[in-house]
Amino acid sequence: MDFSESTELTMLRDAVAGLAGRYGHEYFTTQAKTGGNTRELWAAAGEAGYLGVAVPAEYGGGGGGIQELTVVCEEFATAGCPMLLMVVSPAICATVIARGGTAEQKSHWLPRFADGSVTMAFAITEPDAGSNSHKITTTARRDGSDWLLSGRKYYISGVDEADAVLVVGRTEDAATGRLAPALFIVPTDAPGFEYRPIPMEITSPEKQFTVFMDDVRLPADALVGGAEYAGAGLAGLFAGLNPERITVAAYAAGIGRYALAKAAAYARDRSVWGTPIGAHQAIAHPLAAAKVQIELSRLMMYKAAWLYDNGMDADCAEAANMAKYSAAEAAIGAVDAAIQSHGGNGMATEYGLATLWGGVRAARIAPVSREMVLNFVAQHSLGLPKSY
Ligand SMILES: Cc1cc2nc3c(=O)[nH]c(=O)nc-3n(C[C@H](O)[C@H](O)[C@H](O)COP(=O)(O)OP(=O)(O)OC[C@H]3O[C@@H](n4cnc5c(N)ncnc54)[C@H](O)[C@@H]3O)c2cc1C
Repeated sequence: MDFSESTELTMLRDAVAGLAGRYGHEYFTTQAKTGGNTRELWAAAGEAGYLGVAVPAEYGGGGGGIQELTVVCEEFATAGCPMLLMVVSPAICATVIARGGTAEQKSHWLPRFADGSVTMAFAITEPDAGSNSHKITTTARRDGSDWLLSGRKYYISGVDEADAVLVVGRTEDAATGRLAPALFIVPTDAPGFEYRPIPMEITSPEKQFTVFMDDVRLPADALVGGAEYAGAGLAGLFAGLNPERITVAAYAAGIGRYALAKAAAYARDRSVWGTPIGAHQAIAHPLAAAKVQIELSRLMMYKAAWLYDNGMDADCAEAANMAKYSAAEAAIGAVDAAIQSHGGNGMATEYGLATLWGGVRAARIAPVSREMVLNFVAQHSLGLPKSY
């Protein structure tokens, strides 16, 4: 068992931290509050090859895996720039296409994921299905060789910044009317594809949208994996869901590390009774306990990434769920303890902590809620009966 980080990963970590640190939380919140976006940071990360670290080398990527991508996501968040689009575009969409796309889809999309010149959103959640993705009704029917896709999705991140959306739907068999899961690549400028922002209380330049698809005409090759793949869509989807959970864990753990670094610096400095407040155990212990929880969640996160990169998908599902759960809980605790240790300053704009609350709290809800992770662990890890 070797828990040391490779020199390559550490170099990547330091390089990403260097780039993200030049932007930082103030850039992130300024963009959020002025209706801006993170395109400049995204482009710089793409140019440096950080968005494409997990894209196979034959398509111009870094040829690494989810371990590399986890490092990239974590360091962006640790610098105060927790980017959901990192989770969606490189972790889910690029992975799904790399694993399950046709040769044409791979050669079209992967070089663009490798250099960050394309951004792809991901849409599975539907208003009437919610956590129960078996109930999704977005459906594609044949029209000649084309598809006509209709349905509605909500809480879809970054549609306004995306060139296309990877949409989880179903295909309707014209002869039998039977439905099979399928993934479609839908350009955001396609006629019949519309989106509307959902006002959110999250300080992030990345916005959430309701998406409406009304008979969106798509060519045959919009179906990931091609026609022979229809019906095997779920397997393709699961290729992307574990990296999604692992990189959301990185997003959360990074926010937690950012908050703890700020809190520790503040508690070393601030003195109201003649000693720094960090000497009071009521301040030190919650920060130390949060540090323990963050480090534990990072262990599970890198284990999950390692399992994924080594092809152990079944074991990875359990570890990825546990990593996402524990990193979200740890990060919520870390941000809360960091705010508390700042007293009134914890809520002040200048200290850049309260702006983390919405984003870190969302990690308990998305991409899979705390309760659904616990259901998974109860059933799959403990063999308990299913209640729903
Ligand atoms: C910031 C943010 C970004 C997001 N980005 C995306 C995105 O890019 N793409 C996308 O497709 N989706 C996205 N989502 C949606 C997200 O994945 C869903 O919000 C999440 O899966 C929960 O679904 P829901 O909101 O419909 O809640 P519901 O399914 O309605 O659940 C409501 C509550 O009931 C609980 N619950 C439901 N079923 C059970 C059960 N069987 N047992 C116990 N408790 C249960 C849930 O845990 C939750 O607490 C995003 C959400 C947020 C907040």
